[in-house]
Amino acid sequence: MNKRGGGSSRPGPLLSPVGAARQQSLRTHNLALVLRAVVEAPGPLTRARIAGALGLTRSTASDLVDRLIAARLVDELEPELVGRAGRPGMLLAPHRGGVAGLGLEIQVDHLAVRVTALDGSSLGEAREAGDHRASDPAVVARSLGRLAAQVVTQLPAQIELAGACVSVPALLRSGSGIVALAPNLAWSGVDLVALLCEQPGLRALPIELGNDADLSARAEARARAVAGGTAREEQSFLYIAGEVGIGGAIVVDGEPARGQHGWSGEIGHTVIDRSGPRCACGATGCLEQYAGLDVIRRRSGLSLETTVDQLLDRERRSIRVRRSLEWASAAIGVAVATTLNLVDVERVVLGGVYARLFDHLAPGIEREVRSRVLAARWAPVEVVAALAGPDSAATGAGWRVLDGVVADPARWIAGHSHP
Ligand SMILES: [Zn+2]
Repeated sequence: MNKRGGGSSRPGPLLSPVGAARQQSLRTHNLALVLRAVVEAPGPLTRARIAGALGLTRSTASDLVDRLIAARLVDELEPELVGRAGRPGMLLAPHRGGVAGLGLEIQVDHLAVRVTALDGSSLGEAREAGDHRASDPAVVARSLGRLAAQVVTQLPAQIELAGACVSVPALLRSGSGIVALAPNLAWSGVDLVALLCEQPGLRALPIELGNDADLSARAEARARAVAGGTAREEQSFLYIAGEVGIGGAIVVDGEPARGQHGWSGEIGHTVIDRSGPRCACGATGCLEQYAGLDVIRRRSGLSLETTVDQLLDRERRSIRVRRSLEWASAAIGVAVATTLNLVDVERVVLGGVYARLFDHLAPGIEREVRSRVLAARWAPVEVVAALAGPDSAATGAGWRVLDGVVADPARWIAGHSHP
């Protein structure tokens, strides 16, 4: 294959136009595979290892790597430290200072912005508390645009944003810029991308939307891979994003199971008690009404402005806060057990504020899971705290943008001629 496409001067048509197009598309495809290998590796790789892993010849892999280095998508580091045998290869890592993804996050009680580089580092970030319960979308879009502009104007000149992705705690209309329903923001049928395109800091960028739990789960899968958890069982988990609302994502082999419309994982609206309190979604007894952050605050006798730090501080002294967290953890456990009886994964990852509240929530969740999940005796379920850190939806949103570059680096390179 590589010999045939080697630009030989042999007479006669070596490749028909269709064959040449196929060759070109194979090269484009391989370029994406090589970039993906470098970006997803837990540590630096060499050309030889990439060639081996992808089944390419050494020279093909090397040519592709050279293209990615020239395009400032991959960096060549120092030579690999090896034993006596063989010449050491140069270590390769994702480039830090070129292309980046702008991740924006709308939550019920805050906004967040993070610029993520191809190596996963944060190049700039900001966070702003706010009250977006039953809010005006235009007002929230303006605040988010302002916060994004603060971060973007501080970026070094060589950083190039490939686009922006906005995390929303909502059902989204796939392939459009429309929020179908965000119960806790009280938004329905909002053309959020149209509102954001008008903001001075965002005008020039392509903008897409993503569900908050899906994007957090994306960031979590990456964080787990970097921590060395590339094993299949580490990359398959039920992710629960606890905020004022509760989102969920079922991740199998590192990929969120999206479902037909991208609406999978709404664990916050699974029922705990059908005669329970009315939920923002209109139904009664949803998990959110037992374990959403506002409900935890209220049952603890605290105001809706109480931060998680303040809640944790109070927990040490207040039996009411402890009971509220126990009540929440049992409800989460019931919803988790219901889900695990339907979906065969062994790991439950608590994200969002639940990662901070992990020590207070995990025992109650584990108790329910042990007694309710049919398969738990053969495949013990592990409940763990998320690794992706705070505002992981903003991180995942940055990754969503970068995923587009990684999936088609040739297109990115074509639009950016580098010396
Ligand atoms: Zn509900």
